[in-house]
Amino acid sequence: MSVVVPFTELGAMTQEVRPAIDRGWARLLERSAFIGGEAVEEFEHAWAEYCGVAHAVGVANGTDALQLTLMALGIGPGDEVIVPSNTFVASAEAVVLSGATPHFADVSPQTLLLTSADLQAAITSRTRAVIVVHLYGQMPDMDALCRTADRAGVLLIEDAAQAHGATWRDRRAGSIGRAGCFSFYPGKNLGAFGDAGAVVTADADLAKRIRSLRDHGRVAGSHYRHDLIGTNSRLDALQAVVLTAKLGRLDAWNEARRSIIARYRAAFASAPIRMVEDTPGGHGVYHLAVARVPDRARIHQQLTAMGIQSAIHYPIPCHQQAPFLRFAAGPLPVSEAAAGEVLSLPIFPHLRDDQLARVCDAVLEALSATEVHIA
Ligand SMILES: *Cc1c(COP(=O)(O)O)cnc(C)c1O
Repeated sequence: MSVVVPFTELGAMTQEVRPAIDRGWARLLERSAFIGGEAVEEFEHAWAEYCGVAHAVGVANGTDALQLTLMALGIGPGDEVIVPSNTFVASAEAVVLSGATPHFADVSPQTLLLTSADLQAAITSRTRAVIVVHLYGQMPDMDALCRTADRAGVLLIEDAAQAHGATWRDRRAGSIGRAGCFSFYPGKNLGAFGDAGAVVTADADLAKRIRSLRDHGRVAGSHYRHDLIGTNSRLDALQAVVLTAKLGRLDAWNEARRSIIARYRAAFASAPIRMVEDTPGGHGVYHLAVARVPDRARIHQQLTAMGIQSAIHYPIPCHQQAPFLRFAAGPLPVSEAAAGEVLSLPIFPHLRDDQLARVCDAVLEALSATEVHIA
């Protein structure tokens, strides 16, 4: 079956920024300036300003952003880091890579995000930090999470890899915790032409340590002195040029995603399908359009047969992935139930009205052929 509506489509975004990237890349090629330098600094300044924080440090990808943040905060063996089980596996992977132990928490049945009650229930005497994940582009109640974390002396780190530009009470994703970690993987709301990532923080010392760790532990300004055991996780200048060019379009692209979600909500208002709910006080950027449906396997298959691509984020919660089983402390019923019901519908800034109408019709048609039973 040919594809009538793709799940995502990056080409039109590339076309909008192509002239600026061509100019920027030409300058880099003339100077053979490939790693670090002005292009990276320019993006770091622009990204810090956009997020409303003092510092941004470009790194190689989002997983490194999380791992280097944990390392720079001195979190490692013997420490526990709380992670919601309903997330992309990288959130938990970074904890294991840092030498610490992930402690999986359940999530809200409405938003599928971590709540302060879930956080509180997961805190032990070994807890050093919590990674709050703004999954699908939506921020949870950050006031309540910060209060709970502060009271327990737990550091709050934001995994904002799906939430570029999202806000909680007018503060941007990444700017509320001790640090905010971003991925610029091509399919993210702000995506490079390859792998890239960044950490944002108000903490100058933390930014300095991450800057050193990403570059082999080098002392700032010295090529030969290494004060830390770091790694190579630098941001390519070529990617920085892409990111600076695309940043100018991010708000418009996020607005387009918001209107798509509004359309899905309206179309499905009286059907046995629910879009994952927003957090009151949050302004999401809808990296994904996640619905909960009865009889998901059949709906997924029927949409595919009608040429509508959909996807599942995520079919297996982290605590049930084979290498993480040894960290699982018990059942997490909300995460487990969600894994069996979630279905991500097409969403990307240049999704056309006629394509959106085709998706809505196809979903309603698939649902009308279903025995209705949703919890
Ligand atoms: C994409 C993503 C990451 C990892 O980013 P990479 O750049 O692929 O390493 C981490 N957390 C979440 C929630 C993500 O969606």
